[in-house]
Amino acid sequence: MRRPLVAGNWKMHGTRASVAELIEGLGQLALPVSVDVAVFPSSLHIAQVIGAFEGSAIVVGAQDCAQQPQQGALTGEVASSQLLDIGCSLVLVGHSERRLLLGEDDEVVCRKFAAALHEGLTPVLCVGETQQQREAGNTLEVVGRQLSAVVEQLGVAVFARAVVAYEPVWAIGTGLTATPQQAQDVHAAIRAQLAAEDAEVARGVRILYGGSVKAASAVELFGMPDIDGGLVGGASLNADEFGAICRAAGS
Ligand code: PEP
Repeated sequence: MRRPLVAGNWKMHGTRASVAELIEGLGQLALPVSVDVAVFPSSLHIAQVIGAFEGSAIVVGAQDCAQQPQQGALTGEVASSQLLDIGCSLVLVGHSERRLLLGEDDEVVCRKFAAALHEGLTPVLCVGETQQQREAGNTLEVVGRQLSAVVEQLGVAVFARAVVAYEPVWAIGTGLTATPQQAQDVHAAIRAQLAAEDAEVARGVRILYGGSVKAASAVELFGMPDIDGGLVGGASLNADEFGAICRAAGS
């Protein structure tokens, strides 16, 4: 039985004051014990959030890491070893905003995935197709390629220590959500692709859905057999809404 995970990606949002408010709101939520909950603040606010959630069930991740795990001469980057040192336990890799706006290709994503694992952090591999790719009927091919880039480089066994997030690009921040069936079809294909290499790894890996998830859409999405929770952007900046999404994953 896979334990659901709901992860809030705060992206490039927040000031010390607004983050403190969000922490306070999240601290007041009654979160379901059957659900893992993680938040991914901007790297500026990671220490603030980790300090505030010490001893709480909410774990903290980073939105990105450098391709090399060790510290070094790489201006502006943050190494996975530094993220571990500060208390992070997860890292997003391959978010579409980084793939499309910052030019990260599968090779870079793969190296970041490996750097996270090297330090014992859990990589959350984001995959997903653009609107154009979906309309051309290429969704499964695109997602399959993003997944196999990691499987081919690092082997399928790494997915025993990772999470996958299916995030259709056309649904991110647009208010459009994949229907539960559209999402389930892709999640099932991701699991089948991994199962072709290792059935046990495929059974155990958590596959999150991301793309304009709201409390109102969460129950149906999380009710699908291969959807193991959500990666939530905009709605995770509102503690009450995020709490409701977490409860949906526990229902
Ligand atoms: C995301 O960026 O990971 C995301 C899913 O964003 P949103 O929920 O705002 O679509």
